[in-house]
Amino acid sequence: MVTFPVIGVVGGGQLARMMAGPAVELGLELHVLAEGPDVSAVAAVAHAQVGDYRDRETLRAFAAGVDVVTFDHEHVPGELLEELVRDGVAVHPAPSALRHAQDKLVMRRAVEDLGLPNPAWAAVSTTDDVAAFAARTGWPVVLKTPRGGYDGKGVLVLRDAAGLADAEGWFTGGDLLVEQFVPFSRELSVLVARRPSGDAVAWPVVESIQVDSVCDEVLAPAPDLPPEVADAVTAAALRLAEQLGVTGVMAVELFETPGSGAGYLVNELAMRPHNSGHWTMDGAVTGQFEQHLRAVLDLPLGATAAVAPHAVMKNVLGGANTDLYGAYRSALSSGPSAKVHVYGKDVRPGRKIGHVNALAAQDEPLAAVRARATRVAAILRDGAEPPSSDQD
Ligand code: ADP
Repeated sequence: MVTFPVIGVVGGGQLARMMAGPAVELGLELHVLAEGPDVSAVAAVAHAQVGDYRDRETLRAFAAGVDVVTFDHEHVPGELLEELVRDGVAVHPAPSALRHAQDKLVMRRAVEDLGLPNPAWAAVSTTDDVAAFAARTGWPVVLKTPRGGYDGKGVLVLRDAAGLADAEGWFTGGDLLVEQFVPFSRELSVLVARRPSGDAVAWPVVESIQVDSVCDEVLAPAPDLPPEVADAVTAAALRLAEQLGVTGVMAVELFETPGSGAGYLVNELAMRPHNSGHWTMDGAVTGQFEQHLRAVLDLPLGATAAVAPHAVMKNVLGGANTDLYGAYRSALSSGPSAKVHVYGKDVRPGRKIGHVNALAAQDEPLAAVRARATRVAAILRDGAEPPSSDQD
């Protein structure tokens, strides 16, 4: 008798793809509703169906063939998910939780209601509203589209009143979010997982380094993070998960603000495995993709402890090299202890096409681990060894 459940993932990007390995290991079946025949996850799963996740009937038919529905992205319209829930489909995270990751205004209100540290913020519908907000908080301010933004798209920094002209075209109906510009020292992220029956766990807090608003590197754990800040942000993330009813993996992105208030502010929530958690695939007892599957099935959660003193994740963005496999000999021999993850995507400039994880050997300094991950990622990106690199 077959009793293994089928998990349906809406969206076929690299996050769905990276669930495939752990699903195979656990004997679970993954179905993917993919945006097209060539997206990242299609080659990795036995059951991929191409369809529009915004179409009610497509979504319903997909849900009918699986035991639980979960996500690779946060773009499925909430009202369609509410209908699935009313029809008795297990949707994790539930739409009532997911809306906090879909809409930054909803998220800001929830963070405020829970008494957790937010930057100063307001809902605005005109540039005059923005000017009035800036008169209270001072310039610069940050204007954000509440929905659909990613990798800095949908974020506009306004340096001064003259910058308001740039914002004119942003008001196309519906409120926008404006925030004070936070003079943060660095960006942190904390990843948690929660199962429907309530258990929740957190991984160590990490530092995430963004370049041009795209995650470039993650250091786990965040170096020299005061223990009281680590404890506070972990408690905040677990509280958010519980109070919002999150199921599955959630990343809470934060700004570190030493010497002011709680020492951190919440930036945003992602309710799915997240780029800042890719290090866990090799650097923690349980990786985020396995954990997400466990959580959405309401299975006992795995241990989240780090398996090395430091782990570094370096993203590989599309660059000069279009033949990734052609770079494998050089990349793999340059860093035998680094782990290469490639997403099966065509190379386009700046596109996330893979990442490299490197773990510290006993007593190995963080700088050496970073150099190792960076070198291997650079070989994949550029197709050749950087001129001045050291070997492992
Ligand atoms: P996205 O949805 O694109 O990830 P975010 O809200 O995370 O958007 O913003 C993208 C980046 O812009 C952040 O990682 C941070 O570097 C910067 N940023 C966002 N909000 C603020 C803010 N209030 N103050 C200063 N920088 C900010």
